[in-house]
Amino acid sequence: MNFEWTAEEQAFREAVRDAIARYGSPEWGPRDFELTTPELAETCRAFCRALAKEGLLTPNWPKEYGGRDASPWEQLILSEEMHGAFEPRGPQYMNVNWIGPAIMAYGTPRQKELHLPLIANGDVFWCQGFSEPDAGSDLSAMRTAAVRDGDTYVVNGQKIWTSYAHAADYCFLLARTDPTAEARRGISALLVPMDSAGIEVRTIPNIAGAHVIHEVFFRDVHVDASCLLGAENDGWALVLNSLANERIGIARFERSARALDAAVANARQAGRPFGPCEKELAGRALAYNEVARVLNYAAVQERISAGEGPRPAASISRVATVTAIRRTAETSLELLGQPALVDPEADEQLATATTVAIAAGSYEMQLNNVARLSLNLPKG
Ligand SMILES: Cc1cc2nc3c(=O)[nH]c(=O)nc-3n(C[C@H](O)[C@H](O)[C@H](O)COP(=O)(O)OP(=O)(O)OC[C@H]3O[C@@H](n4cnc5c(N)ncnc54)[C@H](O)[C@@H]3O)c2cc1C
Repeated sequence: MNFEWTAEEQAFREAVRDAIARYGSPEWGPRDFELTTPELAETCRAFCRALAKEGLLTPNWPKEYGGRDASPWEQLILSEEMHGAFEPRGPQYMNVNWIGPAIMAYGTPRQKELHLPLIANGDVFWCQGFSEPDAGSDLSAMRTAAVRDGDTYVVNGQKIWTSYAHAADYCFLLARTDPTAEARRGISALLVPMDSAGIEVRTIPNIAGAHVIHEVFFRDVHVDASCLLGAENDGWALVLNSLANERIGIARFERSARALDAAVANARQAGRPFGPCEKELAGRALAYNEVARVLNYAAVQERISAGEGPRPAASISRVATVTAIRRTAETSLELLGQPALVDPEADEQLATATTVAIAAGSYEMQLNNVARLSLNLPKG
């Protein structure tokens, strides 16, 4: 069995690196993906537009939607290189990796015509309005309501922890369209323009960064009925597939591995001790990162073969990634000492070690999935 990348895949990786070097901003740093200023948002948009022109934004999309039917492995390589370079696509990894594909799978011809070119050209930012104050791990407890009134839905409610809401052009929103139905039925997905009247975005200050998470309030927001994605009341399958794609669509292990390399280099340069103990620590952290990488590859293979079926490897991959980032963060602190707290890369890993264990479904919920789907253990 040959575990190496093919010559074409290697060449693709080189092309992506080359594009990052040519179009990426040299100032783009570990926290810039949050788009804290309008200038950063524009830098990010310009970068994605340049990628799109080179066929490097959505290469794995079908040709009819602006891709070239590249393999999921090229998509993975793209993700690794982008995350390794502090994700210069900003939030666009979401539209490219799972919101666009959801529109391809469930969208009407009109929705596809409107949204897919915008995403494939690198023109739009999306946010994902799933979680609510009392509906996170148990998403089916959501209460935000979309009530049909003629040709519109009137949306009222609150979303929380919404990443990039401050910069987003559209929201991939989940709302309850049948309050009488069983919890997982009666939920629908709406593609909502963020400039709709009645939407208010508030930033939630937190240790992870200025714009990582927000509250989004919907007050009598009128959304055209043509924005309904898929069948009314039937959004749950769409959600499960999107969440599985989200869990494997972010190559955080690559960022973590590069941050570990940087911590070792910086510790040595600063004259910090680097004896057998430190080498063992660094070696173990590296091993955790490589395990996360390999399990992510297994989850990509699962995505290729499982289709719409259950995707247990996506949760296993997520658990391994959280563990790897935690090891990188702890190891950076050990190697660098207190300066790790002001070292941009180490500091980002320390913050990410907390947030990554919550976002896209908490670490504990992923372990529950592993127990149930992979180990066949009983619920609870
Ligand atoms: C950085 C970041 C970005 C995010 N971005 C988005 C976004 O863009 N869009 C969006 O919709 N959401 C987003 N989220 C929200 C995220 O999906 C939720 O925070 C997550 O699903 C957990 O939900 P919760 O916060 O309500 O916690 P809760 O569900 O209240 O969980 C609290 C604790 O209880 C544990 N727990 C709960 N139920 C169980 C159980 N059955 N078994 C074992 N343990 C359990 C959890 O593991 C957790 O430790 C983001 C979160 C973070 C941190």
